[in-house]
Amino acid sequence: MKTAEEVFPAPVLAYIESTRFSLPEVVSSKQTIEIRDAFYDPFVQYLKRIGDAFGIQATVGLVYTDMMRSEAITIGGQSYIAHDQYFGQVINMMNRMFLYGASKKTKVIYFHKVASQVLSRYGFYPESTFAANLYRESRKDMDHIMKQRRDGSSRHGLYTTVQELFVLLHEQSHVIFKHHPDLLNEMSADVRAWLVDYAKPSRASATELQAAMQAQGWSEVEQTEFREQEAAYMASMQLRTAFCEEIVSRKDLVEEFCCDQLALINVLGYFAGSTYRVHGEKMRRDYSGTDKITAVLLCFLNMRTLQMMEAMCALEKNADFLSRSQGSISATEGVYETFYSARLHRAKDLCYDLALNDDEDATSIHMQVSRLMDHHTDEIFAMAEGTLRRLLYEKELRPEIERVFEPLTSEITDNQHLKRTVTAMLHLIPDRPEDGRTTSKKAKKRSRNGKKR
Ligand SMILES: [Zn+2]
Repeated sequence: MKTAEEVFPAPVLAYIESTRFSLPEVVSSKQTIEIRDAFYDPFVQYLKRIGDAFGIQATVGLVYTDMMRSEAITIGGQSYIAHDQYFGQVINMMNRMFLYGASKKTKVIYFHKVASQVLSRYGFYPESTFAANLYRESRKDMDHIMKQRRDGSSRHGLYTTVQELFVLLHEQSHVIFKHHPDLLNEMSADVRAWLVDYAKPSRASATELQAAMQAQGWSEVEQTEFREQEAAYMASMQLRTAFCEEIVSRKDLVEEFCCDQLALINVLGYFAGSTYRVHGEKMRRDYSGTDKITAVLLCFLNMRTLQMMEAMCALEKNADFLSRSQGSISATEGVYETFYSARLHRAKDLCYDLALNDDEDATSIHMQVSRLMDHHTDEIFAMAEGTLRRLLYEKELRPEIERVFEPLTSEITDNQHLKRTVTAMLHLIPDRPEDGRTTSKKAKKRSRNGKKR
């Protein structure tokens, strides 16, 4: 895969430059380019095959930005997909921390890095600088590499491969639907029907419950307690129903579900052949259904984590610290939360239909998947959320945040871009080199360069 500069025309590059902040690329040696190409080129070829089948063309180019998001761009009737390599790095790290059981401390340290970047994008410079500093000072204490060695596998690399391809195929699906509106309409109708069903409470009505409890001879206390729990559940379901109605009415949000679905079908197609290549090495493609489901769902879980951080910052963007620290859940946040969990559940349902091999036990896989989702929520999502929440809202942290930022304010002007550059420089310490992925060579060289200085 070529870089955006090599394959995109000037207007597309101008668009990217005005909407994204590129992280400094230090290395572009022949060797690192070869490694990168060996990783991404099979994807590009596969995307071309899918594109040909739908009669569309989209030029794919690599970017490396703090937006951590890939994007389909159509300008002048031509379509382009900017694939963010940094997004790949971040989800790869989340996979590693999750799969090999990195310590809580490790996760909190790492999410300071991610939070620093998201905060900086939304103009929270003091918080961003503080988080970057904390990451820089504490990263030596991270244990994910040791944990991975102990585990003795590199499953995370396999999962990241599936996830990056999935994201590329999702973006390509936007282009496909642009040219095939009928297909989009057809799939949208399915999605809407699924959402209506998803929004329905799955439990019995209050009167039915009452009758059942009396029939079973429950005591008054037991009945009251149970009714309270049920009332809370029903209230949350009512909210979910309202949020789902909002999603159903939004064409753009429904399209996201359709792109997920098409991408899912295509990603499974890629792994259905006999062999494929990663880093130029031939690998067998006969993953179990569980592997494929785990990889895809982890992708959604990782994306949900990043989107939550994004949404939190976006919502707080225009509030000063005092009003922020009151903390309130807004309706927009609710819609997006519901949107991401609905996408996750829809993907799960589709996976069960599409990815399970005949000889696999569906019930035990369902249980594994539920555990995976709960586990990720506790181990990754909650850590990211807690880290960002503390940076945004915690009163005790304020003096320290201001103390760290103070010396910088005298050296830099009000120029936002410059502030962002400073923060990006602070953050830019490579992840540890023994990563085993394309970007690791880059990181190695970068850290070598760093030592020389
Ligand atoms: Zn999309």
